[in-house]
Amino acid sequence: MRDCIVIGAGAAGLSAGLTLARARRTTLVVDAGRQSNLPAATIGGLLGHDGQPPAEYYAAGRAELAGYPSAELSEDEVTQAARQGDGTYAVTLAGGRREDARTLLLTPGADYRYPQIPGLAERWGGDVFHCPFCHAWETRDRPTAVLAAGAVGVHGALTMRAYTDDLTLLTNGTELTGTERDQLAAGGVKCDERPLAALDGAGTRLSTVTFADGTGLAVTAMLVKAFLHQRSSLARDLGATVTGSDEHLGVEAIAVDRMFRTGVPGLFAAGDAATSVPPSLAAAVASGYLAGASAAVHIAAGPAGQVTPTRG
Ligand SMILES: Cc1cc2nc3c(=O)[nH]c(=O)nc-3n(C[C@H](O)[C@H](O)[C@H](O)COP(=O)(O)OP(=O)(O)OC[C@H]3O[C@@H](n4cnc5c(N)ncnc54)[C@H](O)[C@@H]3O)c2cc1C
Repeated sequence: MRDCIVIGAGAAGLSAGLTLARARRTTLVVDAGRQSNLPAATIGGLLGHDGQPPAEYYAAGRAELAGYPSAELSEDEVTQAARQGDGTYAVTLAGGRREDARTLLLTPGADYRYPQIPGLAERWGGDVFHCPFCHAWETRDRPTAVLAAGAVGVHGALTMRAYTDDLTLLTNGTELTGTERDQLAAGGVKCDERPLAALDGAGTRLSTVTFADGTGLAVTAMLVKAFLHQRSSLARDLGATVTGSDEHLGVEAIAVDRMFRTGVPGLFAAGDAATSVPPSLAAAVASGYLAGASAAVHIAAGPAGQVTPTRG
């Protein structure tokens, strides 16, 4: 019986695992190794790690965790998790292993969904990205498109205007209102409402967007509105509440309180899977830290924590 099992070792799970390990709580961190930002060449906007390749960042986090005897990191995937009659948790790993713990902390990240336009997926995380604060500095002053519709598109385009004078909002077939067109014109943003057919360029670079009518527009960077969804049914299976996707942020998140408790006793969640703010590594690190601390406090307050402290 461990004190905690953390599902996922991205920024949130590694941060939670580190906090629990330093609290001398026996912790198993299970990770399938598919952190969201791995397709990106570098990290943008994380203090102390700006410009670092994501894989290096995660390797450093894993190395820090490995320094603590109470933590174990397993490269595997949790396929099932259940709360048992006595309030403890049982998880099954894809490799067939079964593990039990007093608490469970969900940090599986999110499934970022974007329009299924041919050529987009290959450029995702490079010239095509979802977050201006993460990657637009690297593409500054280039001919750029924003792919989104409605108020979200206008808002995204006006934000991107800080980075380039050559900016076009592409709505992919959705009509803008007169007010929206006026706002864009006032901000010096061009717009094109025609449906898109493809994104093209050499290798994974972007050089052109092609419209359904066959004509093209030369752009070498693109901001795309992405929607975040749960990566699996784990949270719902465990009885946690998952909130619906709101239009603006577009996140489908596990509901948590300020200490990252889900409402199911002993079940915590953090990172992209439980975010109600725009996703970022900084927010994932912070929420993972707080969720880990919250789980440690919960363990200490429970009968098992008081009577038989486990010390790793
Ligand atoms: C392309 C891209 C680029 C980005 N660039 C930046 C940037 O430059 N700066 C920034 O601040 N933010 C950036 N972000 C956002 C940032 O990556 C996320 O906010 C952050 O990674 C969230 O951390 P997390 O730990 O919640 O999830 P993740 O980093 O996604 O990690 C979750 C981990 O859990 C694992 N997992 C999932 N389910 C299971 C399971 N059942 N069993 C075991 N393991 C499981 C996954 O495989 C993964 O390794 C970017 C996002 C994307 C999509």
